[in-house]
Amino acid sequence: MSDEPIDVERMNEEEWKARLTAEQYRIARQKGTERAFTGEYWDTKEPGTYRCVCCGNELFDSDAKYDSGTGWPSFTAASGDVRTEDDLSLGMRRTEVLCAACDSHLGHVFPDGPGSDGQRFCINSASLQLDSRGPDTE
Ligand SMILES: [Zn+2]
Repeated sequence: MSDEPIDVERMNEEEWKARLTAEQYRIARQKGTERAFTGEYWDTKEPGTYRCVCCGNELFDSDAKYDSGTGWPSFTAASGDVRTEDDLSLGMRRTEVLCAACDSHLGHVFPDGPGSDGQRFCINSASLQLDSRGPDTE
């Protein structure tokens, strides 16, 4: 991983591959799914901002993260720029969540969340990078 700013419009698949781990590439660029309870962040309670692993765009805040019991990082709301799309793959009707800046696959959103909006963003750890703010700030 490098911290250099990237021009997401001009990235080709080879460049994404070089920048990401194999697992990150498979999930974020090829719409894969990590196995439940295996990702880096499913059980993380550290405060911070979850950014797109591909482009650094802000996506979710730890304030909206909760334990859904599914084994994937789950959020009641997005704090940054995400967009959604109908996903009819695997014989199911789901709503895919993507990074609005670089179109990386993040996960899916389901209408059974605990918050007032009733949303459950079920997101792959591999698509995220936690920008920790530490417990002592704010
Ligand atoms: Zn992105």
